[in-house]
Amino acid sequence: MKIDLSDRTYVVMGVANKRSIAWGIAESLASAGARLVFTYAGERFEKNVRDLAETLERKDFIILPCDVTSDEEIDTAFKQIGDQVGKIHGIAHCIAFANRDEIMGEYLNTTRDGFLLAQNISAYSLTAVVKAARPIMTEGASVVTLTYLGGERVVKNYNVMGVAKASLDASVKYLANDLGKEGIRVNAISAGPIRTLAAKGIGGFNEVLKEMEETAPLKRTVTQEEVGNTTLFLMSDLSSGITGELLHVDGGYNTIGLM
Ligand code: NAD
Repeated sequence: MKIDLSDRTYVVMGVANKRSIAWGIAESLASAGARLVFTYAGERFEKNVRDLAETLERKDFIILPCDVTSDEEIDTAFKQIGDQVGKIHGIAHCIAFANRDEIMGEYLNTTRDGFLLAQNISAYSLTAVVKAARPIMTEGASVVTLTYLGGERVVKNYNVMGVAKASLDASVKYLANDLGKEGIRVNAISAGPIRTLAAKGIGGFNEVLKEMEETAPLKRTVTQEEVGNTTLFLMSDLSSGITGELLHVDGGYNTIGLM
């Protein structure tokens, strides 16, 4: 079955540059004909997003600011989206942040402020966004967020971000339960390590990539495009029976124990 999303609109949150996983998702959704709405945080990313969006075939995209630390900004963004496009069919939430000096060394060194910041931007934001988007989501809409193995297991240096991902993973299940009766699905993709702006901040990231290539069953890292295509599946009706799920797109790395 060919996936055709040409009569649908999706919100993609978190494109910073062409390496962003969010951009891989945008390209996959665009390849199925979808109309896209982009949100970005901070003026410095607006031009990047606009330049990338201009490369898409469909020119009816919309670009809006949305810093997820502000409920007001989230509400305004989704109000504007509703006014401009009517209903939306899904949201790709590709947002995370932690202080750089807390994603290296020991987890024990996490500060209270650093803990709350990582939780606020990387975990709570999904709940805040879904709450604001609820009135404009169609029945059958699909929400996808991005998580990482460091929320399920200890991954060296991932620290406070791992704890935030654990919180995000649990939020996915609770949100899926709340919204299931409205026909709205909520899922997470646990992506393998991909070299992006956010990943660069994590201590020892090159070692993580090397470990993937040596240990993952597929003996390689995964691409933005592979995460994008899995998101496309989760956004489409092909996945209509899946919700509250955490789907690994990591070359099988998570299945490996002691070798
Ligand atoms: P990225 O740096 O390209 O994207 C992170 C985005 O978060 C940026 O666009 C940034 O502007 C946005 N952001 C940060 N603070 C924000 C705020 N207050 N409001 C709104 N947006 C904000 O990096 P990425 O790797 O593509 O990250 C996207 C998602 O993928 C993150 O949730 C990340 O944890 C997750 N992920 C990444 C990897 C990886 O190896 N790259 C693996 C698994 C999961």
